[in-house]
Amino acid sequence: MAMTDISKLCWICGEIATTGEHLHKKTDVVAMFGDKFSKRVVRTNLEGKDKKFIQSPNSKELMFRNNLCAKCNNETTQPFDRAYVMFADYIRKNLSMLTRELEINLNLIFGKRDAKEKQQNLFRYFAKAFGCRLHDAGLSVPQALKDIFGGANYGNTYRVCVCLNSEKLGGLSIFPLEGDQNERGESIDYYWVQDNGWFTVVHAYNRQIPSEYGDEWFGKSKRIVVGKWLDLP
Ligand SMILES: [Zn+2]
Repeated sequence: MAMTDISKLCWICGEIATTGEHLHKKTDVVAMFGDKFSKRVVRTNLEGKDKKFIQSPNSKELMFRNNLCAKCNNETTQPFDRAYVMFADYIRKNLSMLTRELEINLNLIFGKRDAKEKQQNLFRYFAKAFGCRLHDAGLSVPQALKDIFGGANYGNTYRVCVCLNSEKLGGLSIFPLEGDQNERGESIDYYWVQDNGWFTVVHAYNRQIPSEYGDEWFGKSKRIVVGKWLDLP
């Protein structure tokens, strides 16, 4: 019997992956460059290489290859995506205030009544994006990350920091996935950065994030102390 290639399966539930999650969220891309691009949008890696020209917010280049089944991508995780869209929209609209205060009060974004559930969903969105990045690199997604989808009772191996960008970036970039290995060559931690134009999200699994990028957020506090992204190229 032929083995099924694990990279072709949905990393959340194990069904065949038929849809690709966005590597760059479409709402962020539209906010940065508009619905119809009036000039060419370029995406590069951190060294400014591997240049890709993006024609529209619907470009395949903005997606991961198929990595989730339709149910997980469209149904199960849609509330996560929606919480993120509200979060990103709020930061864009309040950037100068946030740059002064360096703190995000999630109650102001989600409303006091729904804040707890939606802030959990926001954290799950980050875990989803990070899981997609690992899966895309051919790595198996740690169970600790999947546990975050289940409920409030998950560990604290995975965390994010949110940094405000000093200025809106003029293009898109892809950051490398970093990680350390033990002496047997097995991955023991991961680190990744996702740039969203006005702000940057730093993801880490089993590893601390430097404090200048903000306070580590585990999805449990309603306040996020943000950092300033100092050394973007
Ligand atoms: Zn699935």
